[in-house]
Amino acid sequence: MTFPVQILTLYPEMFPGPLGTSLAGRALEEGKWALDTINPRDFTTDKHRSVDDTPAGGGAGMLLRADVLAAAVDHAVARMAEQIAASNTVRPEPVEGPASPALHASTNSAPTVSSANVPIIAMTPRGKPLTQARVREIASGPGVTIICGRFEGFDERLFDARPIEEISIGDYVLSGGEMGALVLLDACIRLLPGVMGASSSGDDDESFEHGILEYPQYTRPQKWEGRIIPEVLRSGDHAKIAAWRKQRAEEDTRLRRPDLWERHRDAPDQSPSGAQEKDKDKE
Ligand code: SAH
Repeated sequence: MTFPVQILTLYPEMFPGPLGTSLAGRALEEGKWALDTINPRDFTTDKHRSVDDTPAGGGAGMLLRADVLAAAVDHAVARMAEQIAASNTVRPEPVEGPASPALHASTNSAPTVSSANVPIIAMTPRGKPLTQARVREIASGPGVTIICGRFEGFDERLFDARPIEEISIGDYVLSGGEMGALVLLDACIRLLPGVMGASSSGDDDESFEHGILEYPQYTRPQKWEGRIIPEVLRSGDHAKIAAWRKQRAEEDTRLRRPDLWERHRDAPDQSPSGAQEKDKDKE
């Protein structure tokens, strides 16, 4: 199934950008995700096609206009609904059951996907910091719409008038939301079904998957610049190796990320993967 991605950006040429290569690029070619860019400039109504204006009350820079952005968002929502409705109707017929026309999506074996569950995300520095848990939720959903800011950001009324979730990729300021969108997408795409091989399903001991960091890893040569791979990893004793890795992952998390460690210690069972499984059961 395709994971539809919509990007609202004044710079559509920035996409797929780096996501056109390697793992994400192959997945795009294989139709595991689909990219649709929407330029807010196409929703302007004045002859200068202006998407921005000066801040009320004065101050530096320009702001993205709420009316223009909302028109682009409304268009995106309608287009996403069409796309998802189309993919619902082309799902394979169930093996048994009534031989109804394919249009009756509800009779298909796969659950019908609703575009109402597609998050509309705006990249903003004040947004909720992105986490692996949220990445997993987004990747296990029907698709995503991402709004990229520019200039000094958005007219606040956009967020009052439309159901938009704000996400930040960290406590620093970018010149535009496009890089943030690429980061969010890269993290999501690697989790889509069939994108990563069985060797690394993105559901193992990867950092943040179980609330802690990954343990240190080693590969050949066994001895390099006088440094030897820890003996336990060469022992072939899987139980001992697992215990060593668990202990190192916990120790590294405690030392490098005391904030993560504290949260993990208080609620060790909160793994993003677990959250995803629960979501699946609900459907
Ligand atoms: N005036 C804003 C910054 C605007 S930066 C402020 O002080 O908060 C221009 C755009 O870049 C933003 O609208 C947003 O879309 C994007 N951006 C900047 N930093 C970001 C971050 N840390 N995470 C996500 N998006 C960011």
